[in-house]
Amino acid sequence: MITNCAPCPRCGKLVSVNNLSSISDTLNNMLRKLRIECTLCGQTELLRGNFDDHINQECPNVRVSCPAMNNKCPWIGQRNDLKNHISTCVFHQPPLVVAEIAAATKLSTKDLLSKQPISFEEKSYYEECKEYYHITGKPLISIAEEVFDNNIELKSSSLKIGIDEEYDIVVKQIQVGSSILEAEIPDKLESNDKQLRLKMIYQSITDKLQEEFGKMKIFFLFMGPIKSLFKIQKYRTEIKLNPQYNRIYDRDYNYWEGPLHDGRDRGNKPYYCPIGWKRCSLYVTDKFYEKFKGWCICYHGTKFSNGLSILLSGLKPAGIKVYGDGIYATPSVNYASHPRYSEIMPIDSSHQKTFFKSGKYLQFILECRVHPNNIKQTDKETLSVKDGTTIDSNIKNEDIEWVIDDRNKTIVDFNDPDSSIICTGLLIRVTDNHPGLLPQSQWWFNSHLCDYKKCCALGIDLDSLEGQRQHENKCNIIYE
Ligand SMILES: [Zn+2]
Ligand SMILES: [Zn+2]
Ligand SMILES: [Zn+2]
Ligand SMILES: [Zn+2]
Repeated sequence: MITNCAPCPRCGKLVSVNNLSSISDTLNNMLRKLRIECTLCGQTELLRGNFDDHINQECPNVRVSCPAMNNKCPWIGQRNDLKNHISTCVFHQPPLVVAEIAAATKLSTKDLLSKQPISFEEKSYYEECKEYYHITGKPLISIAEEVFDNNIELKSSSLKIGIDEEYDIVVKQIQVGSSILEAEIPDKLESNDKQLRLKMIYQSITDKLQEEFGKMKIFFLFMGPIKSLFKIQKYRTEIKLNPQYNRIYDRDYNYWEGPLHDGRDRGNKPYYCPIGWKRCSLYVTDKFYEKFKGWCICYHGTKFSNGLSILLSGLKPAGIKVYGDGIYATPSVNYASHPRYSEIMPIDSSHQKTFFKSGKYLQFILECRVHPNNIKQTDKETLSVKDGTTIDSNIKNEDIEWVIDDRNKTIVDFNDPDSSIICTGLLIRVTDNHPGLLPQSQWWFNSHLCDYKKCCALGIDLDSLEGQRQHENKCNIIYE
């Protein structure tokens, strides 16, 4: 490079750019044909004249930013890793998703003419999705496991969309009660790219966008092969007809003291009775014990809408994502029940339809599994619990948080069977009064506790809860 003033390589005299004359076209053409090597990727025999193109379009090692850079995606990395990044980038614009879905619905008119009656399983499934929609105002969004599993070929990338009957669109007469649209994403992408595409759509569905869908009266959205949806619907029906798959953990139901030894594989960590909670089965994947051999049980408190979506669909919903840089889980269900982690939801009469027949408050906790190798470390509680306060009689406060290895992903999705932590069930606690009055919750009052909703989702103002405690008001757990 010639800077403004530099010594000539032959005679050592200082020359400045002004003293130089430009080379002839002939010489320039000769230079363009020189073969050079890219020092970034080591590729040789590159034409010097094409070097800019190599850097701008091909070189796998050059550092590039994400196409969603204008959307504030901070990612910069080697071009090599870009495809991978895009598959998990959440900064891709939501309007793209809307356009994509709109395009899909438009192209589906042929399918809409089908007047085939839907199965019992399918129908009851949609009823549940509508329930979710009526409570939250958002569609219930789910995705097939195939989309995440790189070992399964994704043969079709369908979107199935349910629109509530009251929405005034032409297709509403197709199925009684509601319109179910089925559409294939219109292109001839390779299986891999289909996965990428669906993942991208799925991951860019923000809370805000879900609300927008809700306004469009979309109550249900499924992504993936329709066969897979049928599998889930069948599974749901089976669970409902066989409630023994679900468990109640308390003295008169399923109960044990200390670590459980029943011969089942739960990795190398002890499994204590999650007393006071009801467990809802969840479809995770076929061959569960084969895939998750040696994985241990842990818990993760969650928002009401996440829990409800699981409860109603039996599927992990979109949006249960944890930002990397330390994902936390706990072996103690009692620790996870703190309102900082598990939202306390007052059940009002509009919720008291099918699912919560009685009860005043409700909480959800995700039952998860993690492989011991994915537990980076065990840590002390992070709720400023006062010395001498017991959170869980089975587990020391010093070891009550597990930091899960996020494998350098910026976002870990509980839906992804390749994730370092997966969700296997849903724990529910319905109570006839505020759960802060339960004996096992008294440690909350020796820890951080507030009623600022973004911090502790207490579901009541702290003063009235304290008042009830002064009056020694009681709270009971409702199991049926
Ligand atoms: Zn010279
Ligand atoms: Zn290169
Ligand atoms: Zn990005
Ligand atoms: Zn708080």
